[in-house]
Amino acid sequence: MAINFDVAIIGGGPAGSTAAAYLAEAGMSVAVFESELFPRPHVGESLVPATTPVLLEIGVMPEIEAAGFPKKFGAAWTSAERRDIPHNGFTNLQHEFRAADVRFDECDQPGVDRDHTFHVDRSKFDLILLKNAERLGAKVFTGVRVQKVDFDDPEHVVVTTAMGSKQVDFTVRMVVDASGRQTKIGNQLKLKVSDPVFKQYALHTWFEGLDRAALAVSPEKTDYIFVHFLPVRDTWVWQIPITDTITSIGVVTQKQQFTDAHTDQDQFFWDTVGSRPDLFDALKQARQVRPLKPEGDYSYSMTQVCGDRFVLIGDAARFVDPIFSTGVSVALNSARIACADIIKAFEAGDFAKERFATFEAKLRRGVKNWYEFISIYYRLNILFTAFVQDSRYRIDVLKLLQGSVYDEDEPAALKAMREVLEVVENDPEHLWHPYLGTLRAMSAAPSF
Ligand SMILES: Cc1cc2nc3c(=O)[nH]c(=O)nc-3n(C[C@H](O)[C@H](O)[C@H](O)COP(=O)(O)OP(=O)(O)OC[C@H]3O[C@@H](n4cnc5c(N)ncnc54)[C@H](O)[C@@H]3O)c2cc1C
Repeated sequence: MAINFDVAIIGGGPAGSTAAAYLAEAGMSVAVFESELFPRPHVGESLVPATTPVLLEIGVMPEIEAAGFPKKFGAAWTSAERRDIPHNGFTNLQHEFRAADVRFDECDQPGVDRDHTFHVDRSKFDLILLKNAERLGAKVFTGVRVQKVDFDDPEHVVVTTAMGSKQVDFTVRMVVDASGRQTKIGNQLKLKVSDPVFKQYALHTWFEGLDRAALAVSPEKTDYIFVHFLPVRDTWVWQIPITDTITSIGVVTQKQQFTDAHTDQDQFFWDTVGSRPDLFDALKQARQVRPLKPEGDYSYSMTQVCGDRFVLIGDAARFVDPIFSTGVSVALNSARIACADIIKAFEAGDFAKERFATFEAKLRRGVKNWYEFISIYYRLNILFTAFVQDSRYRIDVLKLLQGSVYDEDEPAALKAMREVLEVVENDPEHLWHPYLGTLRAMSAAPSF
């Protein structure tokens, strides 16, 4: 049977278009099938510096810079607590224990040539990346949904697409699933496992004219991403600059809390932000310019991230929680790592699962580190801010926040945090014991 393309990529989000760029540049024939017409809005607007080396490598950085996205120099966490929390021997603690901030330029990062990354309007960012893939030679089909992937023939894969009212089949050597949380191949091959602990729910929108300084720890930090802790368990709010005047605001909570509230989305959003009067007042003085958009039940893993003639990248492989703004970085880096293996497989003319072993090992390592970091954060978030503020651990935590997780088996800060957490969990008299959150992820964490 005639081969139409070497590789078919399902989805033209950041993962898919990055993979397409790498593979096309390596001389492979690539088709990207994207079901939506771009530009289209998307959640996930704040980047971490680990995106920079990838954006530079695929040659798209000049266009990203030209787009005028707000520069992101750091991240900050603000506190709902106005009282002192016992410091338990940690140094440099501020009065408001849960408040902290970091600047990315405090620590050099391999391949990162600047002191900032970006906050992005995803409709523009994703379009720039997709056009870049096209410029490098990928064939991009938009408004074309992949309906089915047929692996029955060991020599090739048949991808069935819906083009308008017609079904069109393409024969390819292998498939990259970058379909995001729609997890096309994960669903079809029944690889998807819901996370046993995280059942998250988010409501987000854009505000025009929000006074970001009202909530910033200091005026020069208004363009950081802010995570505002709420005095509601396991619940926080993101504040992300989109333009000079537009700010993205999202509430993240446990799905159960939304269900138990028995209210509609608007009421829930305003009741939740109402638990922080300073935040509530600032938002009420701004103008909401988009309806609220919900994102639910988004935490899952896959029993396999590759197989004969396929790999899963980005959200199609795994998603836990957006607390550290890592999704786009994982999308770009999983594409980078997978493509190194795919190019070698192509050169060898062999697309068996074993060819993607390096990708699988690196992705598992990175995601395991993220999972543990996120779990510790939810279990005892004062521990996270204590570590950020303590000079012994600050740089190690910052490396995690920058997105450097793929090459080290166990980042030092994670090991130290886990040890402190175990002490706190096992000692009901511990000063921090009352601050433990309800989510106990460590023992229940899936292996991937
Ligand atoms: C509440 C929330 C907040 C977040 N905040 C952040 C943040 O601040 N920073 C950050 O980095 N990340 C954040 N993320 C994560 C981020 O949104 C994702 O990790 C990122 O978009 C993943 O990119 P992707 O390319 O894998 O998937 P996507 O961006 O979802 O792209 C997948 C594409 O595939 C297409 N597609 C799906 N199925 C098919 C099909 N069958 N055929 C053809 N096309 C198909 C879709 O239309 C889509 O365009 C957040 C996520 C959530 C849920």
